[in-house]
This record gives sequence, C-alpha cells and structure tokens, in this order.
Amino acid sequence: MAKDSEDAEKAGEQNEVIITTAALEFMLHAARNTYPDEFAALLRKNKKGQISEVLVIPQTIYGEDFSSINFYNVAYTSGHCGSVHSHPSRDPRPSRADLAFFKASGDTHIIIAYPFTPNALRAYDSKGKALPIKIA
Ligand SMILES: [Zn+2]
Repeated sequence: MAKDSEDAEKAGEQNEVIITTAALEFMLHAARNTYPDEFAALLRKNKKGQISEVLVIPQTIYGEDFSSINFYNVAYTSGHCGSVHSHPSRDPRPSRADLAFFKASGDTHIIIAYPFTPNALRAYDSKGKALPIKIA
C-alpha cells in the first residue's frame, strides 16, 4: 500500500512543467515587446519533455483584452503541447475565455502576467489547474 501511494506521488511530480532557459527568455521578451497588448503563441516540447520552443503563429491577433491564434496557420506537424500568452495586468489567473481555449489547444498552458519576470509566470493544465514550474 505504501508503495502505491509513493508511485502516485511520483506520477504527480510528472505534472511539473519544465521550461528551458532559452524558451523562458523568449516568452518574457515577447511579452514585454507586445505590452500593452497580449502576446500569444503555441509551445512545443523537446524529447526530454521540456518546453523548448515557442511557436509564433502568423496572423495571430494581439489584443488588449484577448489574443486570437489563427489555427488555419498552425501546421498539422507543429506537434504543439499547449500555449503561452501574456496578461497586461498583474493577474496571472486564466479568464473564462482562456479556460475554453486551454481545453481546445493542449495540456500545458503558460500565462505571464505583468511585469513579465520569471516570478510572474504560471503554468496550468487543460482544465486550468495550476502546475509547478521548473526552469531547466
Ligand atoms: Zn488570458
């Protein structure tokens, strides 16, 4: 029995979102450059399961309150695992529209709130549950 619960704990740890330093820097930079509008892009993992690529999709609309990714421009081969977007406010919580979008676009989602520092980064699963973040 004890072993089962240990295994369950290990499985829980796999929910940790690991982001490479390069991908992190790219997202923070993009969020700062797009401010006061929102930045939005898709994410891709490397073979180690770390988020290593930020896929900027052509014709993405960066709005003040929302962004819209044009999925007609997402290649079928993109293999994205989720999304990243910024919030021009200090609130990193997903909005109702964010939650609907999360459900439709992968398992791992990142929101970067103002002032776009690593501390202002939050990760969520497709249901909006917060996940721990680790920088690789
Ligand atoms: Zn949002």
